[in-house]
Amino acid sequence: MTNKAVKGLLHPLFPVLIFLVFLATASGLKYGIEKQDRNQIQSSLDNEAQAMAANLEREFLVHLEAIRRMAQRFEASPGMSEETWSRDARNYLSDFGVYQAIEWIDRDFVIRWLEPLSGNEEVVGFNVAINPERRQALEQAQASGEIDISGVLNLRQGGQGLVIYVPVYAGADNKGFIAGVFQMETLARHLLTSRVLDAFRIRITDSGKLAYELNTSSETAPAFSHTTPVALPTLDWALTVTPSAAWVESQRSVWPLATFISVLFMGILTSLTTLLVQLILKRNQALLKTRRELESEIDQRKAVQQDLARLESTDALTGLANRRFFMEDLTHTLNIADRQMRQVALVMMDLDRFQMLNDSLGHQFGDELLIKVSERLNGLSNEKVLVAYSGGDEFMVCQQHVDDLDDVINLLGQIKQIFAEPFEVQGDAHSVTATMGIAVYPQSGLDADTLLRNADVALYRAKDQGRNTYQFYTEGMQDREVMRLELDKDLSQALANDEFVLYFQPQVELESAEIHSVEALIRWQHPRRGLLPPVEFIPLAEESGRITEIGRWVVMAACRQLARWQGTDFEHLRIAVNLSGRELDDESLVDHIREALESNNVPPSRLEVELTEEIFIQNIEHNRDQLSKLHKLGVQLAIDDFGVGYSSLGYLRDFPVDLLKIDRSFITEVTERHDDAVITRAVINLAHNLGIRVVAEGVETMEQLVFLKSHRCDFAQGYLISRPVPAAALEKALSEGSMITDTPVRSGL
Ligand code: C2E
Ligand code: CA
Ligand code: CA
Repeated sequence: MTNKAVKGLLHPLFPVLIFLVFLATASGLKYGIEKQDRNQIQSSLDNEAQAMAANLEREFLVHLEAIRRMAQRFEASPGMSEETWSRDARNYLSDFGVYQAIEWIDRDFVIRWLEPLSGNEEVVGFNVAINPERRQALEQAQASGEIDISGVLNLRQGGQGLVIYVPVYAGADNKGFIAGVFQMETLARHLLTSRVLDAFRIRITDSGKLAYELNTSSETAPAFSHTTPVALPTLDWALTVTPSAAWVESQRSVWPLATFISVLFMGILTSLTTLLVQLILKRNQALLKTRRELESEIDQRKAVQQDLARLESTDALTGLANRRFFMEDLTHTLNIADRQMRQVALVMMDLDRFQMLNDSLGHQFGDELLIKVSERLNGLSNEKVLVAYSGGDEFMVCQQHVDDLDDVINLLGQIKQIFAEPFEVQGDAHSVTATMGIAVYPQSGLDADTLLRNADVALYRAKDQGRNTYQFYTEGMQDREVMRLELDKDLSQALANDEFVLYFQPQVELESAEIHSVEALIRWQHPRRGLLPPVEFIPLAEESGRITEIGRWVVMAACRQLARWQGTDFEHLRIAVNLSGRELDDESLVDHIREALESNNVPPSRLEVELTEEIFIQNIEHNRDQLSKLHKLGVQLAIDDFGVGYSSLGYLRDFPVDLLKIDRSFITEVTERHDDAVITRAVINLAHNLGIRVVAEGVETMEQLVFLKSHRCDFAQGYLISRPVPAAALEKALSEGSMITDTPVRSGL
């Protein structure tokens, strides 16, 4: 069905239209049936009228015949006495009750004999030729011998009636007439049954003029009437029958009304049904519409949910999968790997020094750097590798198909490659490295949470070893991790319990073989674990931020030591303290150092500060500021571990540096490896050119000492001369002069 048709069918006027069609049909049918009914009534009426006329004719003729026979008998016995005639007439009257009277009228039209006589005496002698027309009709009858019938006239005996005149002999022999008088009423009564009389008004016209009217009282239905001629001798009669309203009603069929009502009823039913169907259809349409709307809403919801799911699984900042999704996916991956007997590698990754970058260059910078790193890491993503951002500076990579460890090493290589190029953030290029911890399923954990925890443990181990490296999880790590956490807890108590100690390692001046300064190296006298080297707790303290407090303690302890040495043989000694990069962030660092010096009444030139190259990389302005203040104060500045970091030698020029400490890694093989020798020589020369003096760290052999001395290195520090020792041991060794401070042969000079 077309839409238009449906609309039409649903139009509110449609049921009305149906009703009107039925109404019209009902009316038409009613009209048709009524018409037929009327015809039926009319024809019934016709039949009735014709039957009446026929009856009238027949009766009339019977009576006429009776009168005629009387006339014949009178003719046959010319001398009939009045008495005989009267007897004969009485017989007739009793046989034919319709007659009111039978008369003999002489040829002069005068009534002579009459039966019954009683009550009619005055009629005898009456001349019936009451007017010229009557006379003419009677004379004509005398002449022809044919009967004559008077019209309806007022009878001498009273009432209206008819008189039939039968001539006795024709022509000159005429002996008058035998006449039968009967009243119309009687005739009518006789002719018409009571049923007929009740039902019809009957008019008898004689030559068109109303001669007699029967039953005028009853109400008639003028729409129906039938006029039929009555064939009577000499009379020009017609019978007009008009039915009473009651008769018409009785004839009327119930069909027109019944049909009308039933069709109308059907119409109403059909309209109502249509209305109902319309309502149902409309309701249906409304339901369909609602359903469609619901469906579209559901679709929209689904789309929104999908969006949400995507959002929920993705980190908003980096666009990488988030931790939650990563963990769900990992669980799923492990299930599959279990079935396929495959390995899965989970790599936890930390950006080195991100916290420092973020703190010093701002969160905006941090966010941009994270986005840049994420973009590159995302390049690793494929159907077998999922990269996720877990928050902070931490990323996670899941390698889902690992056949052997080479696959993981290969992935780690790819990651390292990602950090090879510096990242362009806020217009500057920044070199960033990452440290990674790896846990491999199933050997490093059987479920996602365990794998994650162990990868984290491995990551911390990797950080402990220095940055920009990776570490696979191994069995023993778990214990170390527990230890680490415990240590962190203990560390919070260490200062209050005064558990830290400073050891001192001397630096010998190669030129003079004298010791002018010592490096203070912290130790933790742990109540249960014994003496712990800084590598066990300094990184931890840096991580937790406790390093600031520890740094202050070190400075204070060094100053106290210097104060103690004042006025002794060791009052010329300078102490070098190590400061980590984070300590430099502390604005009150310089103030604190000054206070420590002043409170112990120690000249600033007695104190030296060692910082690693990282201060050249981040927060340069601030760091230079801090160092300038320190320098102004009179504190000596040394760059520690020189050569391993991000050496941009140009910075040496910009910073107020007094000393350079060449990292132990160059010294260890300086006499064996040409490269290391070249670098060491170059650094010494460069530093000297900038007016900076050079310390060689980790000197363990005499060969190294000879090499350094021959290349004009200013100071040497290392186990060869002395291990880091407590102050008392240092003092003792210095007093005894038991340390190796010089080369047996004057080298090269
Ligand atoms: P560093 O400043 O490079 O200190 C020198 C480290 O090398 C010391 O380790 C020392 O024992 C070791 N060493 C010296 N000579 C030799 C040698 O000939 N051979 C070898 N193999 N090692 C030698 P230590 O005392 O374990 O200190 C490790 C690091 O801990 C230090 O490296 C320094 O970065 C940090 N550190 C030590 N004390 C403090 C402190 O008070 N504050 C801060 N922030 N860091 C400290
Ligand atoms: Ca140092
Ligand atoms: Ca060092």
